[in-house]
Amino acid sequence: MSGSLRICNADDAPRKHDHVDIVLDSGKCVRFNDPRRFGVFLWWEPPAEQHELLRYLGPEPLSGRFSGDYLWRRSRGRRGAVKNFIMDGKIVVGVGNIYASEALYMAGIHPARAAGRISAARYEALAAAIRDVLSRAIRRGGTTLRDYVNSNGNPGYFARELLVYEREGKPCFQCQAPVRRKVIGQRSSYYCPRCQR
Ligand SMILES: [Zn+2]
Repeated sequence: MSGSLRICNADDAPRKHDHVDIVLDSGKCVRFNDPRRFGVFLWWEPPAEQHELLRYLGPEPLSGRFSGDYLWRRSRGRRGAVKNFIMDGKIVVGVGNIYASEALYMAGIHPARAAGRISAARYEALAAAIRDVLSRAIRRGGTTLRDYVNSNGNPGYFARELLVYEREGKPCFQCQAPVRRKVIGQRSSYYCPRCQR
């Protein structure tokens, strides 16, 4: 949520909202900037994945533990919206609001559809779409809409490739129907009413 890490020299003067420096042997520094102070740094000796904040997290989307079959199995019996399901860090990490909207559009799945009522084949398409959208966004340095910066302190250029996100009222790239916005789980979701079922 708007915090960022950037790589700089340890003796660079801090900017507003810079809170933590991790100084490396090379003299470089990983500097943490956090305007809204949602971030936390903890000193923890045992393996990191055993910490309370991490141990219940789902797999990384770009790891081998993540698949359509995994999503399908975890979704059985769930009546909540599929968009909330894929944004739940206990299911899978790293799928934020922008990338959830984009992946559901690419997979042709309506964001409000009940997670437990989506077929295994459609979850295969969704898992592939999540991996695809994240991989492309990483190559573009992320998505800057307002204040996001990547680890070089620069904006990301994926926003110009977004298919539905923040395109309310604009024509769907596949069918020309106006893209709609709907609030699901308190977050704005963008989708095509014709292409997504
Ligand atoms: Zn469409």
